[in-house]
Amino acid sequence: MANQAAAASSSSSAPLEEDEELLYGAESGWVEAKTTCDHLPSLSSDLAHIPTPHTPCHTCQHPKENWLCLCCKEVLCSRFVNKHMLNHYHQTHHSLVLSYSDLSVWCFSCEAYLDAQLIQQLRPVHETAYLLKFGEAPPFRSV
Ligand SMILES: [Zn+2]
Ligand SMILES: [Zn+2]
Ligand SMILES: [Zn+2]
Repeated sequence: MANQAAAASSSSSAPLEEDEELLYGAESGWVEAKTTCDHLPSLSSDLAHIPTPHTPCHTCQHPKENWLCLCCKEVLCSRFVNKHMLNHYHQTHHSLVLSYSDLSVWCFSCEAYLDAQLIQQLRPVHETAYLLKFGEAPPFRSV
């Protein structure tokens, strides 16, 4: 009967692998942007033409930092103003919205931010919105 209490000699030294992809955007406040979303098929088929970032809320005329519905291109205010985009989601189940405040893309159904630069379907509209807001193309990472 050998007592093997001292089996602590299994120290395979695995190096810590920092995945920089996952840390992307942390400085801009994005926590964990998803790179997939089941609701992408609901995107508008014409996202080449979108309202300007200065478009007021369609319902209450709140002037700025509104959200763009990527399904029907309605511009509505945030949950921190009059929640008109949130109401829009409840009424229409349009899940995908783009922030004209920081150009992040949010999915109401997933309750998560989406990585608009990695998701092919979102990249063009993110680029268009960036152009409208800043007057220049976004600084894409080299993939
Ligand atoms: Zn989703
Ligand atoms: Zn509003
Ligand atoms: Zn909509």
